Amino acid sequence: MTTRPALAPNNSLSSRALGAYLGLAVGDALGATVEFMTPREIAAEFGRHREILGAGWLKLKPGQVTDDTTMSLVLGEAILAHGMDARAIAQAFDGWMRAKPVDIGNTVRRGLLRFRRSDEPHGQESEYDAGNGACMRTLPIALATLGAADDEVAWAVKQQAHVTHHNALSDAGTLCVTRMVQMALQQATLAEILHGPVHGLIEQYPAFAFRRKKTISNPGGYIVDTLRCVFEAFFDTGSFEDCLVEAVNRGGDADTTGAIAGMIAGAYYGEDAIPTRWLNCLDDLIERRCRQQAVALLDSSR
Ligand code: MG
Ligand code: MG
Repeated sequence: MTTRPALAPNNSLSSRALGAYLGLAVGDALGATVEFMTPREIAAEFGRHREILGAGWLKLKPGQVTDDTTMSLVLGEAILAHGMDARAIAQAFDGWMRAKPVDIGNTVRRGLLRFRRSDEPHGQESEYDAGNGACMRTLPIALATLGAADDEVAWAVKQQAHVTHHNALSDAGTLCVTRMVQMALQQATLAEILHGPVHGLIEQYPAFAFRRKKTISNPGGYIVDTLRCVFEAFFDTGSFEDCLVEAVNRGGDADTTGAIAGMIAGAYYGEDAIPTRWLNCLDDLIERRCRQQAVALLDSSR
């Protein structure tokens, strides 16, 4: 197991919250270039992909982010304005979809169209909702409920998740990532994070077990594959940069594995561990919004 590195000089709670939000955005921007490519295709084109270049199937500008980051920001704004209110969250997501985002997952679209039709913020439980779309945007929940009781965190996770994803695997995976971020913000060790929420998840749903004989490559949008990739990238590397590079070079839904690995690793290693060349590349307006929200959501939790 990787040992915990020496703490960066400015590893305060706010540095770790900023690390989580900026980590989400840089992971999204880094991974989007290679989304839907196989590891073999990535290796042929980039060797090891480790720079924020834009392009990819969405033809992004360098430093542009996708739905993973923009849905998180919209969720955070809704929480700051209205608290943990499912209808306000659904309306915020719907407004986001009306503004024609650069990308949108099928399950998210289906859920938001149901909300428009029925005015019901939460959908019925469905086996088709086991995608990673609720998990990728859980960071505002982790920040806003930091220090809250476990059942309150679990309730808040579902308030936002069930707008588009109502599924036991999605709920369990999203809660696990939320708790991982919160423990990292509170300076837990890697071993504590592994033995707490991650082993708890695998005990309940063995499909999430990772580090099997063959590491996972080309993870699709299924929450189980996404999180197995993220767990391997986070627990088997020793720095923020290595974690994100490892996650996105597995290919597949790489902007989302990058985003989720980025929020966890950013919370764990802190803002100072994010490579300057990545931050310099990140879209300025997105960076500003991430910074403002990290602080405001943390304040709202106190
Ligand atoms: Mg995306
Ligand atoms: Mg994606």
